[in-house]
Amino acid sequence: MPDDFRKHDRALGLDQPISRRDFLNSTLLASGAVLISSSASPFQLMAEQDDWTGYGGVGDYARSNGNTLEILTAGHRIRDGEFETFPKNLIETGETYDCVIVGGGISGLAAALFFQRQAGKAKKCLVLDNHPIFGGEAKRNEFIVDGQRLVAHQGSAIFQVQYPHSFIARFYESIGMNMPTLQYQRWGGKSPEIPLAHTPYELVDSAPATYGFYFGSKFGQKPGMWLVDPWGKKLEGAPISAAQKADLLKWRSGPAIPQRKPEYEGDEISRQLDAITLEDHIMQVYGISRETVRTFLSPVEGGGSGLGPDVLSAYADYAFETLRPVPDTEDQMFPGGNTEFARLMVKALIPEAIAGPATLEGVCKSKVEFDALDQPSSAVRIRLGSTVVWVEHNGDPEKADAVSVIYTCAGKTYRVKARSVVMAGGCWTTKHIVRDLPSSHRDAYEQFYRSPCMIANVAVRNWRFLYKMGISGCRWFEGIGNYMDVRRQALVGTSSATIGPDSPVVLTLKVLYSYPGLAIAEQGSRGREEILNTPFRDYERQIREQFTDMFSGAGFEARRDIAGIILNRWGHAYLNPQPGFFFGVNGKPAPREILRSAAFGRIAFANTDLAGMMDHRCSILEAHRAVGQLLDQVLEN
Ligand SMILES: Cc1cc2nc3c(=O)[nH]c(=O)nc-3n(C[C@H](O)[C@H](O)[C@H](O)COP(=O)(O)OP(=O)(O)OC[C@H]3O[C@@H](n4cnc5c(N)ncnc54)[C@H](O)[C@@H]3O)c2cc1C
Repeated sequence: MPDDFRKHDRALGLDQPISRRDFLNSTLLASGAVLISSSASPFQLMAEQDDWTGYGGVGDYARSNGNTLEILTAGHRIRDGEFETFPKNLIETGETYDCVIVGGGISGLAAALFFQRQAGKAKKCLVLDNHPIFGGEAKRNEFIVDGQRLVAHQGSAIFQVQYPHSFIARFYESIGMNMPTLQYQRWGGKSPEIPLAHTPYELVDSAPATYGFYFGSKFGQKPGMWLVDPWGKKLEGAPISAAQKADLLKWRSGPAIPQRKPEYEGDEISRQLDAITLEDHIMQVYGISRETVRTFLSPVEGGGSGLGPDVLSAYADYAFETLRPVPDTEDQMFPGGNTEFARLMVKALIPEAIAGPATLEGVCKSKVEFDALDQPSSAVRIRLGSTVVWVEHNGDPEKADAVSVIYTCAGKTYRVKARSVVMAGGCWTTKHIVRDLPSSHRDAYEQFYRSPCMIANVAVRNWRFLYKMGISGCRWFEGIGNYMDVRRQALVGTSSATIGPDSPVVLTLKVLYSYPGLAIAEQGSRGREEILNTPFRDYERQIREQFTDMFSGAGFEARRDIAGIILNRWGHAYLNPQPGFFFGVNGKPAPREILRSAAFGRIAFANTDLAGMMDHRCSILEAHRAVGQLLDQVLEN
């Protein structure tokens, strides 16, 4: 490597420990710890971190940052047709369960809870999940920075305060979530206070005076320039055309024409919205150009559905309000995002699986006892590191008395028998592995598109560089990521009760892969190609360069200030509902309704994607419906 490159790499801190260099050392250390720990998952023993997965942090989730290389390799064996014929060399476990649940995310865990509560503890249930830890997209990363424990979400982040006595409010209470409104870190230190966010999405919407826009080489700015308080200044000084400025100000000030919003799911206005793209809708409502939408608003507008507005149903923007309305209160977030819901559910299902009391604080702080998750004596068992590759009724689905569920674990293939099955893993695997899936259901699943996302958590030793610029959050329009903010952490398992510019924090970049103008399926597969083919080191370099470009003028030094980077890659992160997804096209039923309307024999379908809205409450509600569709078949035995 030429000297100039070496110097550049050193300046970026690419030779620094923690973030990458010592992933090998940390693996060896962790493996040593695993060998002497009785609560280690067997999967942990196999997991070797690699130059794609990268550093995974510390704690329960250290081996499970997003889809690791191991997860990916196991999943691709299905994609590449290795299980098109009945698997050979099967190991019969001899186990029969009343219910097998494929997928241990929020939906799968909720299904296990509903099943246990409704079928009774005498009925046996098995949850199979491919990751080294349960939770699906609701997982967390942990860093230790200068002696302080920092926690951030890997995917599913925020929740809302629910209407009292609503189904979800009661569900929360039933698992020990008794603090719908959380307390957050207070301002600390001598520097005057500036507003901070509670969630990663708060400031990108509100963009207060302490928010900045960055314009770099895409806008002819070398070095780049900052516009602090862009809306307060009415974009004065932004290096963009007068037409773009006018468009953005129109967008910011709200709809140009009075808007009729959907009042309930499926009303006339929702159907009209579902017939057009979100891009056309935004252009119409705000009177702005397609170019402005694609240059400045995509993919953040529509980001809750993974891609830009060009391919999404306009109804996707209203689904949240109409499908699951909530009181007008601030969004809430645990330090590790919705991870804590998954942990609370596991504690409720298998109390020994997480040491300590069954309280929010307890499950947040205590360690997972991996050995306790899969015990023969338990009514519910959770088996990790297990990729389900084949699900099929033993005979005619109308009459069969059982379903075969086949999974791979540590290179071996196993079969269990199930009286009922909930498929909670998501569309992209369910359509491949349910071998006797009728063509109606297969066609329905073919209309589900999902796109990737990467959550990059960047731990910094302090955020004084932002403070110096007078901001606590910012947005940019080129390079890696789009926006970030400094968050006050909820005081649940948090190591410091205060936060100030000298506090170490985790800055989260949400990287979406959208290619406006391309077909929806092509955008998803192109994004996956990109996420698959980019080694950890390349992303690490991009992040360090992006931060250096944006913040070095305020004294930021990547080498000194970045304490660690964890990448959480989700190959099929978001469902992307296209026009017609919610209410069907030409009078035909919407694809989601075909899958939700009834069980197929002894198999029912869950996961948040069936709602068309990525939200943990949908995961729970879809699980509730799916279990209800199967109970009669289980209880009659
Ligand atoms: C980046 C991101 C941010 C989000 N932010 C929020 C948010 O702020 N608030 C919110 O409410 N929601 C958010 N969501 C939505 C999130 O999807 C839901 O909250 C919820 O976590 C989904 O749970 P699930 O069980 O339905 O699906 P998943 O979490 O996807 O769980 C499915 C599980 O099944 C496993 N699986 C799949 N196939 C197989 C197989 N063949 N064998 C074994 N296991 C299998 C998967 O690997 C996974 O572990 C976000 C999603 C993403 C991607």
